[in-house]
This record gives sequence, structure tokens and C-alpha cells, in this order.
Amino acid sequence: MTYFCTLASGSAGNSAFYFDGRRRVLIDAGKNVRYLSSQLRWLGTGVEELDYVLITHSHSDHVSALPVLMKHSRAVLVCSCDTYAAVAAKLPPDPPRILFAPGETLNLGDCLVRTFATLHDAMGSCGYVVGAGRESVAFCTDTGTVTGEMFSAIRGSRAVVLEFNHDETLLKNGPYPYPLKLRILSDRGHLSNAFAGRVAAALCRDGTETLVLAHLSAENNRPALALEAATAALERAELRADIRLAPRDGMCDPVFF
Ligand SMILES: [Zn+2]
Ligand SMILES: [Zn+2]
Repeated sequence: MTYFCTLASGSAGNSAFYFDGRRRVLIDAGKNVRYLSSQLRWLGTGVEELDYVLITHSHSDHVSALPVLMKHSRAVLVCSCDTYAAVAAKLPPDPPRILFAPGETLNLGDCLVRTFATLHDAMGSCGYVVGAGRESVAFCTDTGTVTGEMFSAIRGSRAVVLEFNHDETLLKNGPYPYPLKLRILSDRGHLSNAFAGRVAAALCRDGTETLVLAHLSAENNRPALALEAATAALERAELRADIRLAPRDGMCDPVFF
């Protein structure tokens, strides 16, 4: 039995859990260890049982729990060389680790992990496709756009965790300072609902069955707007999918393969 679920999603912390029956994999370690432990307990496991911790990039909403986690876990840290360079000073010395350049494919035990570069304002940021072929889930958040290279890495995954960060109108009319608005809207920022909706439709045309809408901004988005964008894009393309929202402070329903 293989499943995954998000444990937290948004600018206050991101994490997801993947289990293929043998390997326990955490994708990102935002929030704190107490939070992650309580979520993992619901799933019948704990931080001490993790085999691998995959990190997408060095922003604190993805790594804030990492220093303590690496003290209490025997897990192997998996991240890009640039991400490791950015976080190493906060970690226990010489942690067990696998470093890579985004674009490489890794074999973690028997678990295949494809990595792909994202466009974001953090050196070495990347996304992951965890699992092989159709039985895989792609994690694609914290990116200003989706390049052809990224799309070809993700396409064909049965499930995709995709960033629906903001509604452009809410962001433009909202309280953020102008330079921050520009950063979020840039192609090294975050995906808008409208853009992510178009990506979602293209993915579902290529066989994706489950979409988890992730990393919604608390200020510049509403769950209903993200859902509406995804649903409308699929309807326009005459496609269907199981669409779920990743809660900010809690698990999404586990997705089973
Ligand atoms: Zn983030
Ligand atoms: Zn980020």
C-alpha cells in the first residue's frame, strides 16, 4: 500500500508524508518537530521512523523544523547541494545526507525520486516526483512558473501537489508592499490560481487523477477561489479529477495508490 498526504501547507509551514509500504519519506520540514510528531502519530508513525527527509528549498517555511528533526531522527537528509549550503550551519555536524543537482534521479532504497529545478528566489530550489511511473506523486510548489522541463518531469504522475498560491486580483489590491507583490508575481515567485489551473488541466489531460491544491496564501487567496480556478480550468478542458485542498494547519485526506 502506498499513500501520501500533506501535513501542513502555506507560508506558515510546509510538510508532506509519503509511505510506500517500506520507506517513510518526509517532504519538507516546516512548522516544528512537535507539530510534525503529532501529525505523524495520527498516521501511526513518528519522526524516529523516518527514512528520508527531502527538502525543496531553504526558505524557513520548508526547513524550520529541520535542525531539531535531524537531532531526533536517523533519517537521511536529501536536498540539492545549494540548499544544503544554505542550511548546513544550523544542522548537527555531518548529518547523513544525499546531495544532488536538480534534474538528477535518485534511488532511495527502492524508492525512485526524480528531482527537477523550480524557479524561485532560493538557490537550488527544486521539486520532486516520488515513486515510479504512474504510481508517483509530484510535489510542485514555490515556483514562479512551470517550464517545459518541469512539466515533462511531472506529467504522468497519478497525483500532483500543485501550488495555488494567490488570486492575482486579491494580491494586487491587497496590503502587501509593492516590492513584495512584484516578487510574488515574478517568474521566481509563486504560482497564481489562474496559471496553476491551466497547468492542472494540462496534467490531467496527460493522466493525472488527483490534484492537491497547495501553498495557498492566507492574505492573497481563498480556498473557494483556488477550487473554483482548478474546477473551471478542468471543465473548460472537459476533464475530471479528484481535487483536494491542502489545509494550512492539518493533514489533507491521505491519497492512496
Ligand atoms: Zn514556501
Ligand atoms: Zn519559498
